[in-house]
Amino acid sequence: MKNIVILGSTGSIGTQTLEVARENPDLNIVALAAFSNIFLLEKQIREFNPEIVCVWDADKSRELSENIKDTNVKVVSGMDGLIECATWDKGHIVVTAIVGMIGIRPTIEAIKNKKNIALANKETLVTAGHIIMPLAKEMGVHILPVDSEHSAVFQSLNGEKQEQIDKIILTASGGPFRGKTKDELKVMKVEDALKHPNWSMGRKITIDSSTLVNKGLEVIEARWLFDVSFDQVQVVIQPQSVIHSMVQFLDGGIMAQLGTPDMKLPIQYALFYPDRRNLPGERLDFYKLKQITFEEPDFDTFTGLKLAYEVGRAGGSMPTVFNAANEIAVAKFLNREIQYLQIPEIIEYAVREHKNIPNPSVSEILDIEKATYDLIESRW
Ligand code: NAD
Ligand code: MG
Repeated sequence: MKNIVILGSTGSIGTQTLEVARENPDLNIVALAAFSNIFLLEKQIREFNPEIVCVWDADKSRELSENIKDTNVKVVSGMDGLIECATWDKGHIVVTAIVGMIGIRPTIEAIKNKKNIALANKETLVTAGHIIMPLAKEMGVHILPVDSEHSAVFQSLNGEKQEQIDKIILTASGGPFRGKTKDELKVMKVEDALKHPNWSMGRKITIDSSTLVNKGLEVIEARWLFDVSFDQVQVVIQPQSVIHSMVQFLDGGIMAQLGTPDMKLPIQYALFYPDRRNLPGERLDFYKLKQITFEEPDFDTFTGLKLAYEVGRAGGSMPTVFNAANEIAVAKFLNREIQYLQIPEIIEYAVREHKNIPNPSVSEILDIEKATYDLIESRW
């Protein structure tokens, strides 16, 4: 029996993790956390019987508590509640499926309590990779990637030696705006950007896929997860999303992981690593597929990707500013407060204004996040 904690159980990754749990009775859900969707959370509680749940919003938390009086599930809220779930005594693996930098503190506390991490929340490593990776090593904890690209790299590295990696090749679908010019991008609306060609995901990451900022965050995530330099991470557009990523070794040999686009595979792989289980679903049919094509990313149009390499190389607090500026710019775009191309413009502005701090602590990271929000709110 494996005891699972899911932070962000009502989202795209969270609900798919529960689908995997539904198919595998030896996965036991002990804790769930969500922002405010107590309707879905209650359904999840009644099906999966966790011991504790956290609702970020305090009013909603009280409401849920009232609604599930007939159960003996403990209901908590806020950051203390998230941390209580993340460190819940019986938990073996914590699935970090929360969106945004709010995931940093619970992840760190979980690692300190020797919980393995199935890591979906990429903002954690982007901003605090220099804290998380050494801590995980010290505590003897596995960081198991759930992001499909990093899971593909992780699977490709199985049985290989880290020091024999030549480079990591992250594939990208290119998103809904692949091939578009800056002029065409100017007029793109929320609905256009939410139409991802291959993957169905949360709203924030879908917008990030359209700007290629998601790929930029993944480049930084890969640097930490696999302990490589930025020169060793290459992005290749592969529009069919069949090759989920690759590793080239010193002898020129390349290992890749392929499959249909289904996040349940990386989720399940992380939960059962190093074992594989049956996963119902469509299989790749090469007769139907016929071809896989490749392109170079357009760094001049999708400037967010270029900037991600820049802030990644600079290190310190730069990736935090990049990430925080992107979070607020995307939220503003989703609220229809800004135009599409103002997303990269806002990120670039915040990055240029920031004076880098090397090796920021968690509280410095959170302060910089807030300062970045304030800076942007004062101008847009
Ligand atoms: P989503 O928006 O669908 O879900 C986010 C979840 O986090 C929800 O359950 C929400 O209630 C919860 N949440 C948000 N703020 C919270 C808070 N303060 N306290 C408690 N819960 C909170 O997002 P998603 O697409 O599932 O993405 C989650 C993370 O996984 C992101 O970091 C994303 O980049 C990463 N990721 C997602 C996918 C995907 O296919 N969806 C793929 C790779 C990586
Ligand atoms: Mg990804």
